[in-house]
Amino acid sequence: MCGIFGYLGKEKDLSSLIINGLKALEYRGYDSWGIAIKDKSKLFIHKKTGKIGRAHLKKVTGKVGIGHTRWATHGNVTVTNAHPQFDCKKEVVIVHNGIVENFTSLKKELQRKGHHFTSQTDTEVIAHLVEDKLKHYSPRKAVEKSFQLLKGLNAVIVFLPKRELFLAIKNSSPLIIGKGREGIFLASDIAALVGHVDEIYHLNDEELILVKKEKIQLFDKKGKEKNIKFSPLNLTPASVSLGNYPHYMLKEINEQPLVIENIKRNYKSELKKFANLIKQAYGVYFIGCGTAYFAALAGTYIFSKIAKRHVNASVASEFSYLKDFLKKDSLIVALSQSGETIDTISAIKAAKEKSSRTVAITNVPNSTLYRMTDYKILLNAGPEKCVLATKSFTAKIAILYLTAHLLNDSYNKGLNNITKAIREIKNIIASKKIKEIARKIKDKKHIFLLGRGVSYPTALESALKIKEVSYLHAEGFPAGELKHGVIALIEKGTPVIIYNPKDETFEDTLSSAYEVKARGAFTIGIGAYPDKVFDEFIKINDCGDATIIPNVVVAQLLGYYLAIERHLDPDKPRNLAKSVTVK
Ligand code: GLU
Repeated sequence: MCGIFGYLGKEKDLSSLIINGLKALEYRGYDSWGIAIKDKSKLFIHKKTGKIGRAHLKKVTGKVGIGHTRWATHGNVTVTNAHPQFDCKKEVVIVHNGIVENFTSLKKELQRKGHHFTSQTDTEVIAHLVEDKLKHYSPRKAVEKSFQLLKGLNAVIVFLPKRELFLAIKNSSPLIIGKGREGIFLASDIAALVGHVDEIYHLNDEELILVKKEKIQLFDKKGKEKNIKFSPLNLTPASVSLGNYPHYMLKEINEQPLVIENIKRNYKSELKKFANLIKQAYGVYFIGCGTAYFAALAGTYIFSKIAKRHVNASVASEFSYLKDFLKKDSLIVALSQSGETIDTISAIKAAKEKSSRTVAITNVPNSTLYRMTDYKILLNAGPEKCVLATKSFTAKIAILYLTAHLLNDSYNKGLNNITKAIREIKNIIASKKIKEIARKIKDKKHIFLLGRGVSYPTALESALKIKEVSYLHAEGFPAGELKHGVIALIEKGTPVIIYNPKDETFEDTLSSAYEVKARGAFTIGIGAYPDKVFDEFIKINDCGDATIIPNVVVAQLLGYYLAIERHLDPDKPRNLAKSVTVK
C-alpha cells in the first residue's frame, strides 16, 4: 500500500506540491507521512504521525524532493519509523512500498559492517545497502544491485540529494512517471499526477528509472537503456476532486447510476468476447479479495441461475493453494478495483504458471492485473478514492450479470433489469429513511444480515461495508444457517437486516425474519413487499436478478450514515488502505 511521490523540475514551493501529491495518495496509507526536499545546499526533512489532513508547512522551495504516506508493516507508527528513511550519513533518502522479507539478515550483515540503524523498519536496510554499494558503483548500478538483494515485493524511490537525482525501481506495486511543463513527477497513482503532467509511463517490474537534470532514463533489468513510450494522460482534476460532496464515499455512491448506465450502453461487444472465453473454458474461476471476492461469489449465483453455468469463486489469497487442478483451458477471472491487489496478482501468476487463460475485470487501465492478463474489461467507473469499494462493486456485478444474460441469449432482459436497478439506486439515494435507521442503531454492538441465494453474498458485502466504515460488528449469514448457530446471538433489540427480494428465496427468508423477531430482534426488511414482521422496511422495487445492485447500495448508505453518526471519517477508516499491495 502506501503512497510514493517524487518531483524534479523547476524551482518551486515544493513543500506544498509534495503535500498535495501525498493527499491524493493518502487513501493508500495514512498512519504517518514524511517529505524530503533539497533546499539549496541543505536537506529539509519533515515527518509526522497521523493523517496529512490539513497539514500546512512553511514554504520550502527546491527543485527536487520526495514524499511518502505510510501503511506500517514493520515497526510501530512513530516519527522515526515514518519514511523517508536514511543511510548513516543522510545522503541516501528512501521512500518504500512493500515488505523486505529478508530484512533481518540484511540488517545483521550491514550492522556487522558498521552501519548504524535508527528505525525499526525493514525500509531502512535499503538505504544502508545503497550506501554500501555506492562505495564501488555508480548510482544506477548501486540501486540495481541493492534491489536484487531484496526478497519480497517492493517499490522504491532512492533520492540522492547531493547529486540532485532520484532513481526508482519496483517489482510489484505501481509506480508511474509523468512529464509536464513544470517538471518530472513520479507517484504510486495517477491521482497524484493529474493536473501536473500530460504524459505518463507505468514502470514494469525490474525496470529502473533515473531522473536527473529534468532528463529521464529508463533501463531494463539487464541494465540496458531503452526508450520510454509515454502515453497521454486524459484525466482532468475535476474527475478526482470532491466537488460539492462532503466525502468521497457519498460522491462515489452517487456516481453509481452513471457508471452502470455506461456499462448498459457500451459493453455488449466486449462482454461477448468475455462470454466466448467462458464458453470455451474447461472450468471457470472468479477470484478477488474483500468486496471483489463478494462480487465473485455473487457471480456464482448469477451464472448458475441465468447462464446455467457452474463457476467457482475463490478468495484470491487462497487460490494459490487450489492451483493444482488448473489446466491449460481453465479460465481465471480476476476482479480487482485497483488492479494492484497483491493477493490477486499472485493468484494470476500461479494460473499463468499452469498456462491457464486469464481475464482481469478492473477499474485501472495499465494496472498490473490489466497488463498481465490475456483479456481485460475496464469498469470505467472513474477514480474510486474512498478506501471502501462502492461503485466498483456494483460495476463488477453489472458486468457479470450482463455477461450471464449474453450466455443465455437474454441480453435485452438483462438490460431491462439493469435499467430498473439504476432507477432504484436513484430512489434509495433520494430517500431519508436510511439516515433515520442509522440514527436508531448507531450504538448497537452487533448487526446481523441475512439473505438466501444471491442475497447471501449481498449480506456478506453489506456487512463488510458496515464494519469497515462504522467499526460496528456486522456479520452476514445465509438465512438458512440461522437456526444452526447464529440465532444464539440474537437478543432483545439486536438489529437484523433481512434481504427479502421477490425471488425464489422470498417465503423462506420471510420465515427467518419471523424466527429472529420471535427472539426479540429489531428487524429491518429490504424488499419489494412490506410485512408486519419488519420493524423498519426499505422498499426496493423488483429488478429481477439485478435487485442485488440496489440492495447493496442500501448497505453502502447505511454504513456511510453510521460513520457520520459515530463521528468517523468514512473515506479513511482506521487500519485500512486501498490498493492492498502487501501480502
Ligand atoms: N514496510 C515498510 C514500512 O513498514 C513500508 C510499508 C508501506 O508500504 O507503507 O515502513
